[in-house]
Amino acid sequence: AVNRTPLIAGNWKMNLDHLQAIAFVQKLAWNLADAKHDFGAVEAAVFPPFTDLRSVQTLVQADKLPIAYGAQDLSVHDSGAYTGEISGAFIAQLDAKYVIIGHSERRQYHGETDEIVAAKVQAAVKHGLVPVLCVGETAEDLEQYGPSAVPVGQLETAIAGLPADVDLVVAYEPVWAIGSGQAATPEQAGSVAKALRDVLVESLGAEGAAATRILYGGSVKAANIAAFMREPDVDGALVGGASLDIDEFSAIIRYQK
Ligand code: PEP
Repeated sequence: AVNRTPLIAGNWKMNLDHLQAIAFVQKLAWNLADAKHDFGAVEAAVFPPFTDLRSVQTLVQADKLPIAYGAQDLSVHDSGAYTGEISGAFIAQLDAKYVIIGHSERRQYHGETDEIVAAKVQAAVKHGLVPVLCVGETAEDLEQYGPSAVPVGQLETAIAGLPADVDLVVAYEPVWAIGSGQAATPEQAGSVAKALRDVLVESLGAEGAAATRILYGGSVKAANIAAFMREPDVDGALVGGASLDIDEFSAIIRYQK
């Protein structure tokens, strides 16, 4: 929306190995490299598995591709005896810009609580990474508490104590809409995004809130992206399944054209 560069972010989850990642990023750059895509107008980002990040970095930097990249998670720790964990310091060394934090799959399958998510947000900021902080209610939450109570609570906990000028992206992802083919309506997404913006105003002040992008995620595709983008508080999309289809993802990034 106004004065915020839209962000279209592709969360690959546990898909595409490092060779497939290279082919995908090359093709994406090729698809976008024509007069129809104004890179200044929309930022495109991919979130590959950890093992692909170095390959994506090499390709993006060698060819100066205007594609941002980030990790799907990070450790709360900086280094040490934490087998299998990946530090934000390591991710930052690969010149990644973003890191997804608190995706519903991490909350659901890996026991990530609001407190762990908050600690990961702090770790990301400490290492100069921009958190893409995911919040969203389950179908049961929706029935029990209504549309915005759970995501609002998750956001309040996750951003407590952050400085007003923090570089942050918030992704509203209703769990019932993820991978279900049943996206929220643009009105639903817009109204929760507005509630989240109000939390940002409370926590970061008007200026910080106005600078923070709020994405919608959940069954976004080329056919529905434009309607979400017409909502004044929706500043982009976090895309799962459709981010693995090169032509579909390219079309989502070029939604305005
Ligand atoms: C996601 O998991 O972040 C997501 C939005 O998935 P999908 O687009 O497949 O619903």
